[in-house]
Amino acid sequence: MVLTGAGISKDSGIPTFRGKDGWYKNTPPEKLATNEAFYSNPDLVWEWYNMRRKIILNASPNAAHYKIAEMEKKFPCFLLVTQNVDSLHKKAGSRKIVELHGNIFRTKCTECQRVFNEDYRIFKEDELPPRCSYCGGILRPDVVWYGESLNPEDLDKALSFAYRADLIIVIGTSGIVYPAAMLPHIVKSNGGIVVEINPENTPITEIADLKIKEGAKNALSQLKF
Ligand code: NAD
Ligand code: ZN
Repeated sequence: MVLTGAGISKDSGIPTFRGKDGWYKNTPPEKLATNEAFYSNPDLVWEWYNMRRKIILNASPNAAHYKIAEMEKKFPCFLLVTQNVDSLHKKAGSRKIVELHGNIFRTKCTECQRVFNEDYRIFKEDELPPRCSYCGGILRPDVVWYGESLNPEDLDKALSFAYRADLIIVIGTSGIVYPAAMLPHIVKSNGGIVVEINPENTPITEIADLKIKEGAKNALSQLKF
């Protein structure tokens, strides 16, 4: 099992959230990625998502994404759980994947709750906020914001896999956002092995059986199986 976070896509040029890199118009993500922020100013939140969509559309998967896509071909029992919303794992070929925090290219109607599949548009200023083609309701990005619950089916798939996993490789996540950060703890408490790839220490380092203190791209390009 593999769990990834923003660090794996940093090697593709997509900024992580923590620190100034993740700020927009002097606002930290914690003040933008919420339901309240969206209802008080949907255009501002959409401008920020437009900007992030642009960065992501200009980025390509790196060797780490490709190596993980190879793993699912090699190991019949495999699951990738990502907290990233950037689609880079899918672009690299991963199919056994749970996008725990949603996908930045999907939208969801705030009125009728319909979900619209991945669409790679950048919205023009006069199209903001985009509207639902069925009911005219305001569309929001189909991602999980602060204070929101995860899709129960996705969470269930990730948790039940973790209970059975012999090994989890945790890559590029700060390990402080729950429930994603529970996964390595579940694997460990059921006798599995925890490997962490991250240039920094995190709360997961304490339970890691093996810590590879390197960037994702560099570490995974050297992995042989
Ligand atoms: P994060 O930004 O919290 O942490 C990134 C981690 O990657 C850090 O531990 C860092 O040391 C590591 N890293 C940096 N460069 C690396 C590299 N080259 N290779 C490997 N690791 C590297 O990201 P996260 O852990 O994915 O955050 C978890 C969740 O928090 C996100 O999925 C998101 O849902 C949520 N969050 C969202 C927002 C937002 O919506 N904008 C903001 C903050 C957090
Ligand atoms: Zn609708």
